Amino acid sequence: MGTEIVKIENLVKRYKELIAVDHLNLSIEEGEIFGLLGPNGSGKTTTINCLLSLLTFDKGSIKVFGKEMTPSSYDIKKQIGVVMQDVAVIEQLNVYQNIDYFCGLYINDKKTRKKYVDEAIRFVGLEDFVKFLPKKLSGGLLRRLNIACGIAHKPKLIIFDEPTVAVDPQSRNKILEGIKELNKNGATIIYTSHYMEEVEQLCSRIAIIDKGKNLVTGTKEELKKMVKNTETITIETENISDKIKNKLCESEHIYEVDYSDGKLNVKCSGGKHNLVNVLGILAENNIPVGRVYSELPTLNDVFLEITGKALRDMEG
Ligand code: ADP
Ligand code: MG
Repeated sequence: MGTEIVKIENLVKRYKELIAVDHLNLSIEEGEIFGLLGPNGSGKTTTINCLLSLLTFDKGSIKVFGKEMTPSSYDIKKQIGVVMQDVAVIEQLNVYQNIDYFCGLYINDKKTRKKYVDEAIRFVGLEDFVKFLPKKLSGGLLRRLNIACGIAHKPKLIIFDEPTVAVDPQSRNKILEGIKELNKNGATIIYTSHYMEEVEQLCSRIAIIDKGKNLVTGTKEELKKMVKNTETITIETENISDKIKNKLCESEHIYEVDYSDGKLNVKCSGGKHNLVNVLGILAENNIPVGRVYSELPTLNDVFLEITGKALRDMEG
């Protein structure tokens, strides 16, 4: 067990009748990139705002660096960096001045501050834009500025709330690589997203949340072991009758068969050579096949099995 950086116990946050966070528990250790994965409206931002004492909550307790978090916990806040979902920069200040302003909230020494600001600018790759006002920056560059403002003071814990939404692929990759680097340099990261691929690629541990509840927590390997799906086979083909579907379903390791839009979808649980088996049945029945692919379980399968709905359908 490493040092516990964040401990949230039984957190409840209501907005009038709506329970946005529902008895949520989280424990995050030093050195992790911890992913908070859930669809839009599942309570990620509300949880983060409670964690930062930006919102009051109805029940539960929140500890950061082993101490209770309160609105006046400046010693704790100094060590936290936040990159909010909605870009929060000052329109009247240029890129350099913005980063300097936010860094200056925590770092008083002028020389150190200048060094930190320059490092943050290099880190997000905004060297050529230091004199630009925010409104002159593209969406991706503005996101990078938002990040620089959040991390310039070298916090020990950094929270990224959906930093890649509506970001072009190049900026997106830069952001993800940057987060890995911050983590390598010693920062503990909390990363919220509704993109399961991102969370899977980036995070050492993941909590899947829905309707304010923490459904499961674990490494991606642990989460995937919880589901019965071990392989999903997709085959582009035509003329799949109910008879063929039933035949496929009779196979030992196949538990679900679905055919729509010219795509045959076969879900398997355990077993080997499932693909060969499926193709064999199609060949026996003289059914021509087009493209064939096989996928290992994803976090979407975990979400699907726990909630009965697909995370993938809720993206965007
Ligand atoms: P996420 O960040 O996962 O998309 P949020 O924490 O923003 O989810 O929202 C959780 C739920 O709380 C949603 O149903 C949302 O509509 C609601 N909500 C968020 N902020 C407010 C607010 N200020 N007032 C009322 N309801 C809110
Ligand atoms: Mg949010």
